[in-house]
Amino acid sequence: DAKRNGRGRLIWFDSEKDRSENALSQLLKQIENALDNDELVLHFQPKVNMQTGDVLGFEALLRWQDPNRGLVPPGEFLPHIENHPISITVGNWVIQTAIAQIERWKSEGIRTSVSVNINSLQLLAPNFVPLLEEQIHSHSGFDPADLELEILESAAINDIQLASNVLEQCRALGIRASLDDFGTGYASLNYLKQLPAETLKIDQCFVRDMQREAGSKAIVRGIIGLADAFGFQVIAEGVETEEQGKELVALGCLAGQGFGIGRPMPAAQVREWLAGWHSAQSWLDK
Ligand code: C2E
Ligand code: MG
Ligand code: MG
Ligand code: MG
Repeated sequence: DAKRNGRGRLIWFDSEKDRSENALSQLLKQIENALDNDELVLHFQPKVNMQTGDVLGFEALLRWQDPNRGLVPPGEFLPHIENHPISITVGNWVIQTAIAQIERWKSEGIRTSVSVNINSLQLLAPNFVPLLEEQIHSHSGFDPADLELEILESAAINDIQLASNVLEQCRALGIRASLDDFGTGYASLNYLKQLPAETLKIDQCFVRDMQREAGSKAIVRGIIGLADAFGFQVIAEGVETEEQGKELVALGCLAGQGFGIGRPMPAAQVREWLAGWHSAQSWLDK
C-alpha cells in the first residue's frame, strides 16, 4: 500500500488526486459556461415500429457544441459530473428543452413524443417530481404523454424503493418511463415486478452480437419474454442493419432504434428525415 512505499509515493498519490480534482473543477466551470452561453444542444434519434414503419417517437441525446472542440458527445463529459449537482442543472435544461421542442414541432404540424435520459442523482433528488410538474405545466396544452423518461436499469435498482416511488408519481402525472440499457444492470425479477415503468430498452451490445453469438441472442429472446410476462413494452437499441431488424421482428420485438433506422440528428433535420422515412419503399418491406 501507499505507506509501505514511503513518503515519496504518498506525495505522488496526493498530486495525482489534486490533478484530477483540478480537472474536475475546470470541467465544472466549462459546463457552467456552456449552460450560460447556450452551447448545449439536443439531437434526436427516431424510434420506429420496424414492421409497420410507424414512427414511435424520438430520443433526445445531449451534445456540447464547444467553440474550440466542436460537437462533444455526452460520454466525454456526463460520466465525470454524474455525482455532482451540476448534472441536475444540466438534466433540467434537457427536460425544459425537450418540452419546448415538442411544442415547437407541434406548432409546425409534427406530433411526436420525446424521451429524455435521466441520471440517478436527478431522479432521486427531492424536488425532481415537483420540478417536472412545474415544467410540464409551464407549457399550457402540453400533453405529458408526449414526454418519456429513460432511466438506466442500474440507476433504478440502486434505490429501488425510492425509484419506484418517484416513477409512480411520474406515472400519475401521465409521464411514462423506460429502463435503458436493459440486461446490463442486474435487476432481479422481484425488483422488475415492482418498477412502474412501461418499456424495457434492450441494450445495444446484445443486438450487436445477436447474430454471431448464441448467448446474446438468448438474452434478447429472454428480455422479450420477460417483457411479455411482466407486461412491459420492449424496444431494441443499436439496430444498425436490416438483418438485425428482421431478426428482432421475428423474435417478437417490433420497436427499434439505431443507426440503420436513423442517426441522432439536430431538431432542424427531423422533418426531412420523416419525409424520407415515410417515402422509402421499405425498411423490412414495410
Ligand atoms: P443511451 O441513452 O443508451 O443512448 C444510446 C446511445 O447509443 C447514444 O449515444 C446513441 O447515439 C448511440 N446509438 C444509437 N444507435 C446506435 C447504433 O445503431 N449503433 C451504435 N454503435 N450506437 C448507437 P450518445 O448520444 O453518445 O449517448 C451516450 C449515452 O449518454 C446515452 O446512452 C445516455 O446514457 C447518455 N446521455 C445522452 N444524453 C443524455 C442526457 O441528456 N442526460 C443523461 N443523463 N444522459 C445522457
Ligand atoms: Mg437512453
Ligand atoms: Mg441505452
Ligand atoms: Mg447507453
